[in-house]
Amino acid sequence: MQHFLLSAAARTLSLKAVFKMGEDKAYETFCEMRWAENDGEAVCPRCGCTETYNITSRRRFKCVACHHQFSVTSGTIFASRKLSFTDLLAAIVIFVNGAKGVAALQLSRDLDVQYKTAFVLAHKLREAMALEDAGQKLGGVVEVDGAYFGGYVKPTNHKAHRRDRRLLANQSGKRQSVVVVRERDGDMLTFVGKHESDGVEAVHAVVEDGTTIHADEASHWDVLHARYEAYRINHGEAYSLNGACTNMAESFFSRLRRAEIGTHHHIAGPYLASYAAEMAWREDNRRTSNGAQAGVVLEAAMDAPVSRRWAGYWQRAA
Ligand SMILES: [Zn+2]
Repeated sequence: MQHFLLSAAARTLSLKAVFKMGEDKAYETFCEMRWAENDGEAVCPRCGCTETYNITSRRRFKCVACHHQFSVTSGTIFASRKLSFTDLLAAIVIFVNGAKGVAALQLSRDLDVQYKTAFVLAHKLREAMALEDAGQKLGGVVEVDGAYFGGYVKPTNHKAHRRDRRLLANQSGKRQSVVVVRERDGDMLTFVGKHESDGVEAVHAVVEDGTTIHADEASHWDVLHARYEAYRINHGEAYSLNGACTNMAESFFSRLRRAEIGTHHHIAGPYLASYAAEMAWREDNRRTSNGAQAGVVLEAAMDAPVSRRWAGYWQRAA
């Protein structure tokens, strides 16, 4: 069977096409994504049986073998969805189209849904993006770099009252480090920790032996020389010297910084890892067409299990 991303359906997954297709066709698209290996025909999630009764009026299925009842979104991050299939598809298209990310407030206005609904939906889509990258290993030539986000301390108005915000004692304690590991001409992964040095362990976990690593002069990267062929660039001297540079890693940070400042204005600490992974996914897929990107996210969302973190999130938080 032809891969969904290469099909006409994926190419035409524009916002216009989504609203034109209507609810029946949108539902069909979800079935095609969920059960791609069975030509879009339902497969029982409990026993794997491919023979099912189709309860068309309720868009549910009943397994012939084990009598389990399920829907196309059962067991996926869209389980117990409240939005129509058209709205869900539209949300995915709007979400992938936002190169700097999409604010929940904008999504709620565009779809005419509650802010809470949009907030949780956007986080579920981020979760699907992250799952698509899970378990990935990086190799070849990679660049490693870190940057700090969050915990902004506003300077006081009068100069005499100002404190040195570089000193630990004068920081909010909410600042976190994002470390990016980026293959040249390849994919990237991100890690969030209290300090940039926390990224060393992450590098060891995802970068394969035999890899060439480029990093800056920060001393915590010194240990990488023991396992990898490592090149260092002292940014006090130059951005690129004798072939050593971390410009690709830094271009990722400028994207994440633009998302923080331009779209979300403030990224709350617990969500930093999700936003970093989302922006890495966007950077990795920047040459893929919008329609195909929407297809990748939908496919990942249908493969992703029921969200532990976001299922009933507002009910819990309230
Ligand atoms: Zn069954």
